[in-house]
Amino acid sequence: MKAIRVHQFGGPEVLKLEEVPTPKPDAGQVVVRVHAAGVNPYDTYMRAGTYAIKPPLPYTPGSDAGGVIESIGPGAKQVKPGDRVYVAKTVSGAYAEYALALESQVHPLPAKASFAQGAGVWVPYGTAYHALFQATSAHAGETLLVHGASGGVGIAAVQFARASGLTVFGTAGSEKGLELAKREGAHQVFNHSLAGYQEQILKATDGRGVDVILEMLANVNLGNDLKLLAIRGRVIIIGSRGDVTITPRDLMVRRASASGVMLWKITEDEEKEIHAGIIAGLENGTLRPVVGKELPLAEASRAHKEVLEPGAFGKIALLP
Ligand code: NAP
Repeated sequence: MKAIRVHQFGGPEVLKLEEVPTPKPDAGQVVVRVHAAGVNPYDTYMRAGTYAIKPPLPYTPGSDAGGVIESIGPGAKQVKPGDRVYVAKTVSGAYAEYALALESQVHPLPAKASFAQGAGVWVPYGTAYHALFQATSAHAGETLLVHGASGGVGIAAVQFARASGLTVFGTAGSEKGLELAKREGAHQVFNHSLAGYQEQILKATDGRGVDVILEMLANVNLGNDLKLLAIRGRVIIIGSRGDVTITPRDLMVRRASASGVMLWKITEDEEKEIHAGIIAGLENGTLRPVVGKELPLAEASRAHKEVLEPGAFGKIALLP
């Protein structure tokens, strides 16, 4: 089969399309025919060798995919060949024609979701659910700011929050991204590339502040985020690419908090709850992954460049 392989950590050019043996499932494993693989920012950090998790070389990147069960190993009971699934982590990597996964790493993909949408499920929706409902208990009636609402995690958070009765504010850096956030459920949108947008957000709350902020770029925004919080407000840090200065008194006067999430650190019980929440939302149509770009698998290095560029519009999917 064809797969993307990384033999040394480095820039996007280290992603090579190669011919490798098609995997065979062992006990408790399945092989998925990958129809689309999701590209996440962390794939690029891992490829660069700067991520907390450094896989042994060579490796095939990717944890997210949409596809069909090709074969099952001895003892696998939850799925059968032909089942449509979304993949949440793999044994062998998702940027490939076939991916080996544990039976527990595949989940039903409802018919109304395309395979490319299935490739945009796990990391974005898993992170959004975990941040909103497990890291904090965001609930109906609260006001949420999704700081970075045009990308994978942001759109997922907007959809979850809107369906759960929160008042949702979203930010993006392009007109296209702002329109997308609004279309997917944000009540109001703000352009984070324009000076003064933070004052507009405060004004939209009549000066009260927002209850919860999901932060996609904390190294840029955390200091200002604390000034946008209501009393007992919470900032949940999802993304950060550097250091930042904050004024601790902004937290003190609001009895507020800032905390972080890491999807790879969730417990088994949390993971089960997340999948139940995702599958229900995919079935009832409140969760609709947005695929902004589909590229052939061979163009993985282009995808790794573009996923880090401004002007996000949903997910990038690689098609083997
Ligand atoms: P993505 O699809 O590439 O989207 C990036 C988002 O960040 C876009 O909405 C982008 O908006 C926004 N952004 C850019 N500049 C910003 C600014 N100055 N202020 C606020 N937002 C800004 O990435 P993603 O998959 O949604 O992931 C978002 C971040 O979370 C990444 O850094 C990723 O590594 C991280 N993440 C962490 C976890 C975890 O477990 N902690 C899990 C998943 C993702 P425009 O392009 O419209 O400007």
